[in-house]
Order: sequence, then structure tokens, then C-alpha cells
Amino acid sequence: MGIPRKARLYEVKDGKVERKNPFCPRCGPGVFMADHGNRYACGKCGYTEFKEQPESKKKEE
Ligand SMILES: [Zn+2]
Repeated sequence: MGIPRKARLYEVKDGKVERKNPFCPRCGPGVFMADHGNRYACGKCGYTEFKEQPESKKKEE
């Protein structure tokens, strides 16, 4: 086994490895989704999931 290419999708923080991107719900665990700013997209099946933005509340006028 070689060095996993997906290692860059992990971030080491305080000695712990944190997962930066979510897994694709279609492809299952092991397939990461790419970060596209306001959304995540799976490069394998094309699944796109928009990020939740709890801070940007919709203003009612
Ligand atoms: Zn997928």
C-alpha cells in the first residue's frame, strides 16, 4: 500500500486528524466530495450537495 492521495483532504489539528470534506452519500464512505465554495460535489458520480449556511439567515421584508 502506498501513500493515500486523499491525505490532502485531511487536516491535522492539535495532533488530531480532522476530515475536511464529507463523504459522498451515493458512493459511500471512502469517496470524498470536492469543496466548491458553497457546495460539495462528488467527482465520481456527480452528486452535488449545498453547504448549510446557518449564519446567513433569510431576511423577511
Ligand atoms: Zn459520488
